[in-house]
Amino acid sequence: MRIGAHVDSVDPLAEAAARAAEAVQFFLADPQGWKAPQPRPDADRLRSADVDRYVHAPYVINVATRNNRIRIPSRKLLLAHANAAAAIGAKGLIVHGGHVNAGDDLAVGFDNWRKTFAYAADSGGFQLPVLIENTAGGDNACARRLDALARLWDVVGEYEVGFCLDTCHAHAGGEELLGLVDRIKAITGRIDLVHANNSRDAFDSGRDRHDNLDGGTIDPELVVALVRAADAPVIVETPGGVEGQRADITFLRDQLGTGASAA
Ligand SMILES: [Zn+2]
Repeated sequence: MRIGAHVDSVDPLAEAAARAAEAVQFFLADPQGWKAPQPRPDADRLRSADVDRYVHAPYVINVATRNNRIRIPSRKLLLAHANAAAAIGAKGLIVHGGHVNAGDDLAVGFDNWRKTFAYAADSGGFQLPVLIENTAGGDNACARRLDALARLWDVVGEYEVGFCLDTCHAHAGGEELLGLVDRIKAITGRIDLVHANNSRDAFDSGRDRHDNLDGGTIDPELVVALVRAADAPVIVETPGGVEGQRADITFLRDQLGTGASAA
């Protein structure tokens, strides 16, 4: 089981080394902006690194919305990030499940997800797995609660879509963590990546504020149990910089009984 962290994008391999991480996740462009990702000068080095790479798509992307001025650029930007992530040999592109606006039918959001994959297929297809991540907030989210996730997967399942489980988002989003991996796999058939985070906020608060594994409102043992059950690579998206994340990675390795395999 490879364990790593979300890191700054300037020199991800140095960040990995500082944390003894076997995997890194980073952004390829401003997560709050619409600028397309630029080719990276270190693409060759990243591609041949023994540290696994994951790319997180910008937060502004919402392919589900009925708002054309968000949905259409979201589709294009997601495909651009997929191409850029493939160029560095990333294992997956993580994107939030998105939402429709208040009063809009979630069924439209799910169908917009289907159209996103159809659009990509028409443009040569996603060159790496796209992992839809569960989110913490909102009443109209496509991937906050499992009933919505099941409806989403009914619509996009034909496209080999991956899933990223964020433990903070699940807890704050109102899904019981006990047994959650089995309930998700019954829907998606897979978990490709775990974002192992604690939550600063209460169960079902709808808030998205990550905490270190030994802090927050989630019993850290539960996070460990989910990681073990998912049997997938793990990224911590926790605060505290190198020190905080290194401690979280060490905690997981100790609890899971696995040593670091990366230098
Ligand atoms: Zn996450």
